[in-house]
Amino acid sequence: MRYTGMMRDSILACNWKMNPGRRHEAETLYQGLVAASKALKASEIWIAPPTPFIDGLRERRIFKRLSLGAQDCSRFTMGAHTGEVSAAMLKEAGAQFVIVGHSERRAMGESDTDVNTKVQYALKARITVLLCVGEKLRDGDGEYLAVIASQVRSALMGVPKSASCRLVIAYEPVWAIGEHAAAPATPEDFRSVSIYIKKVVSEQVGAGAALSVPVLYGGSVSKDNAMGFLDEGHADGLLIGRESLKLSAMKTIIADAEALGRARAQRSRKHERTR
Ligand code: PEP
Repeated sequence: MRYTGMMRDSILACNWKMNPGRRHEAETLYQGLVAASKALKASEIWIAPPTPFIDGLRERRIFKRLSLGAQDCSRFTMGAHTGEVSAAMLKEAGAQFVIVGHSERRAMGESDTDVNTKVQYALKARITVLLCVGEKLRDGDGEYLAVIASQVRSALMGVPKSASCRLVIAYEPVWAIGEHAAAPATPEDFRSVSIYIKKVVSEQVGAGAALSVPVLYGGSVSKDNAMGFLDEGHADGLLIGRESLKLSAMKTIIADAEALGRARAQRSRKHERTR
């Protein structure tokens, strides 16, 4: 994550989930993203392919603004845990970040305690944590805020301030995720919740460090609504599911993020000159 004065790069994180089915398809999609990311100046592409593909793809990771990561890690470090892959093993395979607490993992039984353990082990392995939080339902009384606060507090329990530089949070309201989602959240929904999340994060790591923790939006992001979240919603980036498997859509999202970054940099230079 790069900073230029008050400006920061947009993180465009791609969660490929259990797709694509074949290694050569993953390579083709990846090569397309590599080509699209050659001239990046204001954004970074983070790709979380299925775990078996990470190692092969990292050979081709030639750009600083392109990161590879995993979609989950174990709550154990090693031993008799059939099927589990530790954060340290993922790091060795080439993962630079790991998604933790995704709602699809929580739906399979992952508890808040599991999420906290995974966060701790990933940070210990020096992998950036992309922590997902979000309510299942949006009520009219603001109860959903308590759900989000509790997920953030429990996930970050015991996390030192010094680790905040390896922490990214994605606000992913469960009701907005996936093809059966009623609708994406709005940029205004995101903006208010992201401010709230930073406030809760500050309880753990202090206000200064919390301000530097990027908060992304995730949930039915498309090439048509991405700009709204980045611009009006002031999102520090996006966590993109289905749409991240479509190279042409990703090219549009990348071009939009870059154009916004350039416009903001220009505004900030103008502001500096007139001060
Ligand atoms: C996700 O599950 O992280 C996600 C954002 O999915 P989608 O974009 O497909 O809603």
